[in-house]
Amino acid sequence: MVILEFTWSKVQKQRLVELNADESLLEYTFQDAKERDRAFQSLDKELVLANKKHLIDLRNKGLRPLLCQLEGQLVQCLTQEGFVQVVTPHILSRDMLERMTITSEHPLSNQVFWVDKNKCLRPMLAPNLYSLLRDLERIWEKPIKIFEIGTCFRKESQGANHLNEFTMLNLVEMGNLEGRQKQRLEELAHMVMEAAGVTDYVLEGCESEVYKETIDVVVKDLEIGSGACGPHDLDNNWGIFDPWVGIGFGLERLVTVKRDYKNIRRAGRSISYLDGSRLNI
Ligand code: ATP
Ligand code: MG
Repeated sequence: MVILEFTWSKVQKQRLVELNADESLLEYTFQDAKERDRAFQSLDKELVLANKKHLIDLRNKGLRPLLCQLEGQLVQCLTQEGFVQVVTPHILSRDMLERMTITSEHPLSNQVFWVDKNKCLRPMLAPNLYSLLRDLERIWEKPIKIFEIGTCFRKESQGANHLNEFTMLNLVEMGNLEGRQKQRLEELAHMVMEAAGVTDYVLEGCESEVYKETIDVVVKDLEIGSGACGPHDLDNNWGIFDPWVGIGFGLERLVTVKRDYKNIRRAGRSISYLDGSRLNI
């Protein structure tokens, strides 16, 4: 005897994913379409209520999405540690990008959004921070400690962990680091993860297209942050000669792991979601 198993229809499954149904629910099977559709209706109702409750709590209590709260916590931690916040342009010149060696042969160059022939939306904060380091070095005593939190733009082929626009936290420290860059990089990674309230992470040594060697901060196989040290080949292009350490984190990825979302889109800039809750409910 052949037993036919009914699974969710494509549309039903998509709706359940949008409403953040637990993964185990997506694998349910049914004896017939009627049983399945009844189950869908009741599950949909339950999930809509949960999303609505979250949005009402946001209105009455939280007031700020976790992404913004997290940004606040990180700013507080970093400024307490003596890092100065900087605010630099979203629009980057071709020249600045080329000085990061991201020329047309580079794999990252396909991910760049060009505004016109010589200007693009920044895919990273590093070029602007390099430029500030060189200027501040003449003005401030060492160590120079700065950070920026801002949007970066990359053409991504979508997927559950990539957004076309995402919020990067990038911090850099330069000076008095000779021979202890790796140790300092690890300290900074721990500091940020503690401030973010995420404890189940590991640090992994990795290769990077831009920086060659990096230390990645990883939570359940997802890269949350990526750090690098200098002196580095790139430094010459920016007139930087001192040892430095720098590390960049994706804030939406932090929210994704904190809330255990299956898709980073819930955490990103959106008109379909607010603080992870679906709005077409
Ligand atoms: P991945 O390998 O996951 O694509 P990456 O190595 O290209 O990431 P980095 O250039 O090291 O990323 O950027 C630093 C951090 O910025 C990453 O650890 C990640 O948290 C975040 N990030 C990078 N690209 C994206 C993206 N498209 N959407 C969301 N966050 C991102
Ligand atoms: Mg990386």
